[in-house]
Amino acid sequence: MTATLTLPTFDGRAFINGQRVAARSGAVFDCISPVDGRVLTQVARGAEADIDAAVQAARTAFEDRRWAGKAPAVRKRILIKFAELVQAHGDELALTETLDMGKPVKYAKGVDVNSTANCIRWYGEAVDKVYDEIAPTPDTALALITREPVGVVGVIVPWNYPMIMAAWKIAPALAAGNSVVLKPSEKSPLTALKLAELALEAGIPPGVFNVVPGFGPEAGSPLALHMDVDCIAFTGSTRVGKQIHVMAGQSNLKRAWTELGGKSPNIVFADCPDLDRAVDAAVGSIFFNQGESCNAPSRLFVEASIKEAFLEKALAMVPNYQPANPLDKNTVMGALVDTTQLNTVMRYIESGKAEGAQLLAGGEAVHPVAGGCYVQPTIFDGVHNTMTIAREEIFGPVLSVLSFTDAADVVKQANSSIYGLQAAVWTRDINKAHGVARALRAGTVHVNQYDEDDITVPFGGFKQSGVGRDKSLHAFDKYTETKTTWIRLDSPL
Ligand code: NAD
Repeated sequence: MTATLTLPTFDGRAFINGQRVAARSGAVFDCISPVDGRVLTQVARGAEADIDAAVQAARTAFEDRRWAGKAPAVRKRILIKFAELVQAHGDELALTETLDMGKPVKYAKGVDVNSTANCIRWYGEAVDKVYDEIAPTPDTALALITREPVGVVGVIVPWNYPMIMAAWKIAPALAAGNSVVLKPSEKSPLTALKLAELALEAGIPPGVFNVVPGFGPEAGSPLALHMDVDCIAFTGSTRVGKQIHVMAGQSNLKRAWTELGGKSPNIVFADCPDLDRAVDAAVGSIFFNQGESCNAPSRLFVEASIKEAFLEKALAMVPNYQPANPLDKNTVMGALVDTTQLNTVMRYIESGKAEGAQLLAGGEAVHPVAGGCYVQPTIFDGVHNTMTIAREEIFGPVLSVLSFTDAADVVKQANSSIYGLQAAVWTRDINKAHGVARALRAGTVHVNQYDEDDITVPFGGFKQSGVGRDKSLHAFDKYTETKTTWIRLDSPL
């Protein structure tokens, strides 16, 4: 880390009922930067007692309607103010995110801060524009179909986009009038705590938005099991996502929404309209965020007749993605989140080699900054769908290249996965594009691009990529109950 860098002041205490508090037990854990291995601060090690306190604060706030009872236009103003504060603190939040989880600071600011502020603003703006319904019943009765906040929402998020993943859940949940208890990842807890401070400053009343940092089994499980939490919204691995549904069922049958892993297929036909663009997207998207993106197109299927040309262009791009200090404003690939993730990625690289895939680029851990967690951009050719690196989510900068002969073959291979988060198809044939897009079992399919994204569209997966959708107006479905109210009408005429 550069000697001249002024670090933000970190406060690792939990945020409960509008106040910073230590864990009830007094326990803390070190928050270690993957940039260079330094301890950034100590963070409250939340556990059941802290979750209890946060849920109680959230419940009290929900029951006395200090937030849900505000006019929609008032909630809107406050959420927009919250978004403005996120933007105003953008430099500090971006630097914190980079130090905490290793992503390049230019993306932490340009992507993470901006998307977080935009998400909060968008749901804030929606609050007074979404109407309820009246059913087409006979004149003798009126049936109102209304949306009500579900109550106390527990949110558990991962470390790869700490602010964005939190915003995708807290923004619609708060906009709908709920109270929230957020448990950020133990690997990246700092920006979530700052968001809670900014929410309070914006006017979200104490108790409405609480943050309890801590480890999954110690703080996450008590939240998912809590009898007074009405809904649990989770983003993370498929392994833990399955446990979340079990915990919801074991406790109070709270609504459980899970956004989980992916192994997204990116299919390039020989009649791809722009090979350079396809190469750029294939390489750029797998190496963006160090490959730590749930929707990274980690299985690249290239039609056999163009594979050689495609790979030549892809390999020429690899030098642009060599990892470097993420605090340098020109860096495009930073550090993996921690040594555990580094070791996981290296194990997958070894398994690729051992199972017979051909290593074309990368494959090594490197040290652009001493003490940090960096892996070279890695490409394997000759991958078969049965290999571990084609089946399991690596969550690192590792691209598996496979080939195919026709549309039926590639759809079969692409769908042969437990995951179904995203997919892409590149072809100039509209019939092929549409037919393959239809046949792919994925929550989002891209045609002739991979990078379009907008808060207006749903994000989520088929199969074991999860249940429910983040983003768009559909997200309100997760954080509201639908109520029918029948009113008898006696005609005065
Ligand atoms: P993870 O499942 O290990 O952890 C996610 C969160 O769950 C963390 O906050 C963790 O503390 C908590 N947790 C862990 N064990 C728990 C338990 N027993 N009870 C309750 N909570 C528990 O995942 P991760 O490594 O943090 O994140 C990477 C995963 O997230 C990848 O699989 C990635 O695909 C997925 N992801 C999915 C999306 C999506 O929208 N589909 C987006 C981002 C990341």
